[in-house]
Amino acid sequence: MSLSLAAVLADSAGRRPDHPALVFDGEPFSYRELWAGAKRYASALRGQGVAAGDRVVLLLPNTPEFPMVYFGALALGAVVVPVHTLLVAEEIHYILTDCDARVLICGAALLEQGGEAAGAAGVEVLTMLEDVDTGRVRLDVLAGAAAEIERYEPREPSDLALILYTSGTTGKPKGAMLTHLSIVLNVATTMLSPFDFHADDVLLGCLPLFHTFGQICGMATCFRAGATMVLMSRFDARAALELMVEQNCSLFMGVPTMYVALLEAAEDEPRRPKLDRAFSGGSSLPVALLERFEAVFDCPIYEGYGLTETSPVVAYNQRAWPTRAGTVGKPIWGVDVAIARAETEDRIELVPPGEVGEIVVRGHNVMAGYLNRPEATAAAIVDGWFRSGDLGFLDDDGYLSIVDRKKDMILRGGYNVYPREIEEVLARHPAIAQVAVVGVPDDRYGEEICAVVVAASDREPGPELAAELVAWSKKRVAAYKYPRRVEFLDAMPLGPSGKILKRELADRLGR
Ligand code: ATP
Repeated sequence: MSLSLAAVLADSAGRRPDHPALVFDGEPFSYRELWAGAKRYASALRGQGVAAGDRVVLLLPNTPEFPMVYFGALALGAVVVPVHTLLVAEEIHYILTDCDARVLICGAALLEQGGEAAGAAGVEVLTMLEDVDTGRVRLDVLAGAAAEIERYEPREPSDLALILYTSGTTGKPKGAMLTHLSIVLNVATTMLSPFDFHADDVLLGCLPLFHTFGQICGMATCFRAGATMVLMSRFDARAALELMVEQNCSLFMGVPTMYVALLEAAEDEPRRPKLDRAFSGGSSLPVALLERFEAVFDCPIYEGYGLTETSPVVAYNQRAWPTRAGTVGKPIWGVDVAIARAETEDRIELVPPGEVGEIVVRGHNVMAGYLNRPEATAAAIVDGWFRSGDLGFLDDDGYLSIVDRKKDMILRGGYNVYPREIEEVLARHPAIAQVAVVGVPDDRYGEEICAVVVAASDREPGPELAAELVAWSKKRVAAYKYPRRVEFLDAMPLGPSGKILKRELADRLGR
């Protein structure tokens, strides 16, 4: 067997051909069917002129065709570029041009923005899953009639497998170039054995497949284990609960906002899934939330930390060592994590254990660089270390704690305030369902601390509750840290992977 991310599916199809790889809308797809589908897509793509090394851009929702096209393109040795399904035409156009796309494979519902972008970039569009004929080339129809390719194209460890674009909240999106080796090793070393992902596990796949968390930690790891993924087209807490019960899910993987929504949905759903392990990442999981979830669902949550640029997992809590809630555990196998002085940007100056600084990472999980962005790459990878842009510290036992994103830090009257610390304090208040702390402009202090709150269903948002929350935090943190302002929302603005969009909140509040 030679190295390729495609082997993740090919190998399980050889070992467990009849085992369900995927369940979607109640319909199971065995490993044999899924891999055969991928090989037919590979054939159809080859017929459209796609060859090894070509960049194949995917604008597809969560459906069984996503893994078929993804592994089909990988089987040809192409580089897969899955993009965010909420992007508008201009953003898609930027990515198509930046990555020199060979083709865009576009779900029917996304054809308006995809078609416009591809037209402007002069890139061919292959459509999928159409109800009505748009006169374009339909890849699913071609694949349905195609013969399976015989074998997947072997790759060198340093060959690119994926280009994943970061969300671009700090300018134009940047394409993180990820090799077969870094992804396959992340799958193998991270989730598989330490998290004890095994063939009889059933994972609820509710994260978007275009994002690294759902794609690598979820889909690729599940297929490597030969386990089953119950795929949802999009996360909905009630439906997720029901599906987990019906399909006997043993694993849940999600971002913290999903844990909040599951707890809310569980209030009027007496049935509980028989979950065995849950995994959280993407943003910080308040300890109070972890404890509530573990009590209600009788299932441990293992929190991990990662980034698109690090394939993605950097550190995690897992069964091999005692979990420490509030930390993201220890670095994954074969990867160094250290803390560097955040202010020293042109070189890496490590700080001693316990001291807060920028989390830096060195090892097999670090991207090969940002596509076409030598300056951004040189700023991100310094002295062989990848600068994460996150602040954190390591304790004497090697557990990593995330303090906050460097760019989310609030500077109030000359003092640094880390929103995460205040969020942890507020999350313990029973009237709070969700909270995000952001800095807002202030004439006197430069920035003022504002808590944006979604109130629990049994509490009325308003001045009375705001005063109660201010008093609660005033008692628990230093005077320069507690929020002077509280704003209530019915729901948080969420990104495609379910993370709270803090910068959008700050913009709404006048930053
Ligand atoms: P951007 O492009 O702005 O970084 P993004 O959030 O979509 O956007 P990702 O690569 O998906 O980018 O996310 C990586 C970031 O998520 C990390 O840099 C970190 O700030 C945050 N993160 C991930 N896991 C955790 C965690 N367990 N605790 C706190 N933050 C986390």
